[in-house]
Amino acid sequence: MNNNKISCPVSKKCGGCQLLNLSYTEQLKLKQSVVERLLKKFCRVEKIIGMDHPYHYRNKVQAAFYTNKQGKIISGVYQSGSHHVVGIDCCLTEDETADKIITTVRKLLPSFRLTTYNEDTGRGFLRHILVKRGFATNQIMLVLVTGTPVFPSKNNFVKAILKEFPEITTIVQNINNYNTNLVLGEQQKILYGKGFIEDILCGCKFRISPKSFYQINPVQTEVLYNTAMYYAQLKGSETVLDTYCGIGTIGIVAAKRGAGRVIGVELNGDAVKDAISNARANDLKNIFFIKGDAGDFMSEAAEENEAPDVVFMDPPRAGSAPKFLDALIKMSPKRVVYISCNPETMARDLEYLTSKSSYTVKKIQPVDMFPHTRHVECVSLLCRKETSKALEQ
Ligand code: SAH
Repeated sequence: MNNNKISCPVSKKCGGCQLLNLSYTEQLKLKQSVVERLLKKFCRVEKIIGMDHPYHYRNKVQAAFYTNKQGKIISGVYQSGSHHVVGIDCCLTEDETADKIITTVRKLLPSFRLTTYNEDTGRGFLRHILVKRGFATNQIMLVLVTGTPVFPSKNNFVKAILKEFPEITTIVQNINNYNTNLVLGEQQKILYGKGFIEDILCGCKFRISPKSFYQINPVQTEVLYNTAMYYAQLKGSETVLDTYCGIGTIGIVAAKRGAGRVIGVELNGDAVKDAISNARANDLKNIFFIKGDAGDFMSEAAEENEAPDVVFMDPPRAGSAPKFLDALIKMSPKRVVYISCNPETMARDLEYLTSKSSYTVKKIQPVDMFPHTRHVECVSLLCRKETSKALEQ
């Protein structure tokens, strides 16, 4: 690995990579010390797992489009805290093919007399581009987000893009004519291919559509999930809960790796639909998904004396709610595998669980999912005191 400090000409304006002033080794040291400061009181913190090649790891790349006063088309990211587009042709964290597609589309626009959308007037055509690539399958989706449904010279434009990038497997037009910060609008038209791509993670297949959530660093997601599965120690007959399950990835990997029965719970209805179709795509019959608040689900399940063996929990940055944690204590599974993208809320929730129950934290593993940024992901294992001896392997 090249461990020199890397410079980026737009790092200040973009604001996406906060740690570029440090070499990658120094970044990992910093993240380790942040996690240790917050979590070492619960248990020894394992050494953070970094990337061998911490560049171009993002499988999903978005660019905003804008025409400046000189009539030049710019594509890139919004300057942090503003709606001014900072021009970017290549980024250290983004997939390189995705970046090439974006710059090529930008260069093609004038010859097709296609304009960029103007947020102030609500006029113009191209607003954003979104590219997603399945790293394991090399399927590529290009989403053109437009301010109007009318797409002049549509077929020729699509042909021109495909000539440059025959590896693109699907192209979608998404129409967003709202005054909004959201990139994608409601309406969608498939211009080429199936309208979705597939990727493979931990041996399981996942369908990714323009709007579905999918982990953006698949290499480290495998590391994260493999650690979570190792902590779960599934033997083949366990009842497993995958709470805050998103599109069902953790539960599906657990079902494939031998869980007896898996129930996933997730608040976002679109994600639940994706989870159900992902379970089908993997021929799994022992996994079910419920749309709802994880805290409500847990307290109802506890009332009904549901007794899972393993609970995976992967809450958003805000962490979990006391209602969830109280129900978890009541259900008392043998193992709780807590995955978190925010060590501060993880510390708060671990404090709650360990002070109100006989759970102790047995393992904490930080994983670097987002090199060059300040973010750090952690997996931890909790066991009940009375069973933890027998379960330590
Ligand atoms: N486990 C998934 C997703 C984790 S992200 C993965 O590994 O990809 C956290 C998820 O929690 C998001 O999908 C979000 O929609 C969901 N979520 C947020 N608040 C929730 C709540 N109160 N109840 C259930 N799910 C919730």
